[in-house]
Amino acid sequence: MDHFPIFLRVEGRRIVLSGGGEAALAKLRLLMKTAGHITVFSADPAPEIVAWAENGKLRLVRRAMAPGDTLCAALFYAADEDDAEDARTAAIARADGALVNVVDNLEDSQFITPAIVDRDPVTIAIGTEGAAPVLARAIKADLEERLPVALGPLARIGKTFRKAAEVLPFGRARRDFWRDYYFNAGPAAITGGETAVQGALDALLTDHLARKARPGHVHFVGGGPGDPDLLTMKARRLLDEADVVIYDRLISAPILELARREAVMIDVGKEAFGPSTPQETINDLIVEHAQKGAQVVRLKSGDATVFGRLDEEIDALDAHQIAWSVVPGITSASAAVAEIGQSLTKRGRNSSVRFLTGHDMKGFADHDWATLARPGEVAAIYMGKKSARFIQGRLIMHGADRHTPVTVIENASRPEQRILDTTLDALPTALAAAEMSGPALTFYGLAPRDAVQAQTDNPYSTPIQAQEAL
Ligand code: SAH
Repeated sequence: MDHFPIFLRVEGRRIVLSGGGEAALAKLRLLMKTAGHITVFSADPAPEIVAWAENGKLRLVRRAMAPGDTLCAALFYAADEDDAEDARTAAIARADGALVNVVDNLEDSQFITPAIVDRDPVTIAIGTEGAAPVLARAIKADLEERLPVALGPLARIGKTFRKAAEVLPFGRARRDFWRDYYFNAGPAAITGGETAVQGALDALLTDHLARKARPGHVHFVGGGPGDPDLLTMKARRLLDEADVVIYDRLISAPILELARREAVMIDVGKEAFGPSTPQETINDLIVEHAQKGAQVVRLKSGDATVFGRLDEEIDALDAHQIAWSVVPGITSASAAVAEIGQSLTKRGRNSSVRFLTGHDMKGFADHDWATLARPGEVAAIYMGKKSARFIQGRLIMHGADRHTPVTVIENASRPEQRILDTTLDALPTALAAAEMSGPALTFYGLAPRDAVQAQTDNPYSTPIQAQEAL
């Protein structure tokens, strides 16, 4: 973040702009929404600016700006659309101590004006640090469409309703009340005007005061393979509502960003074979927060029911009679197979697929190798990097063809995704050469579909050829 977004108090402060053309008009339309005192310097102002000055919306000085004109100004806009003049006025404003913006010149500006969605007092500022103004505008258009116009009046009326803060306890009770107001009771009452909204607020408060405290609840939520677009809508909503989020090591940063800002975030990351938070500690943490009445999201990578130690946590909750539910997620096998353009099952090739773990609590995990070694079998191997040589040895010992295709997808769905296309024979060497440090899913019996590496949906995905790796 090169630019830090803040909301600057401009009420009663000077905002100075130099310029009288199109760029000036565009900025002034925005600035006139503020409670700042606007002064425009222009020898040749557009008729709109003259009219605004006549209506008292701004002060117009019909000459070029001079030193001292920006004294005590909070903000200055150089909007003459002339590089030399902008540089001259910006230098004056800088010397006078104002924050300077040179229109369409990121380099020489001390601040940028974001795209703004205005539901005053609710204001949404969107910035791309100058990288993608088109994107900012698209996001703005999207939000404009989504946010009810009544949001502004609702917020203004809500702000004056102090009773809620006096009688409802801080935290979830108050949050539930306001959520109900903004999304249900408020919009329903707004057509009746301010009195109707006031009435709705009173009724809503009576209703909420009569409610018993919601008991704690734990949602086991599958966080998917890492790409936030692969979260379910339900997972998104629960993250947005959670009081406490207890998450694993593989949960990606963009997904954590979706949690409510006030939520307590607890990292219980477990490093395979490495130091870890003991399972009992995790169980205790979940129970402790749920018993306090929190809505807990226990966020696990992929799908919570696949190699997720879910049952141990459920048992702990059952022992304390705490309600829970499971929200499915996209398991890494599904995400990884999509990236190589294959199917997990295919008519005439394999009518079943196995999800294996490379190691379990006792070390390398044993499986029905003899069955798996038959031609056409497919397995998705989780946590299989360290056990690659062991798995290879067992399969070959049980008669598997050394040329059976094996594909390893590291960081499936994430920007750092890599695909290693190899064979059972070359697997351990190719893996060692690829030096993968991220989570990786190994497909035994599947090769990337021809040319899929060039066309993969993930623009970052780097294919690694086994031959190269060797
Ligand atoms: N519940 C998870 C699996 C947890 S076990 C799921 O359903 O996916 C952790 C293993 O999952 C990792 O060792 C790796 O094999 C796999 N994994 C998780 N995220 C992955 C990703 N983005 N890409 C590839 N493999 C991943």
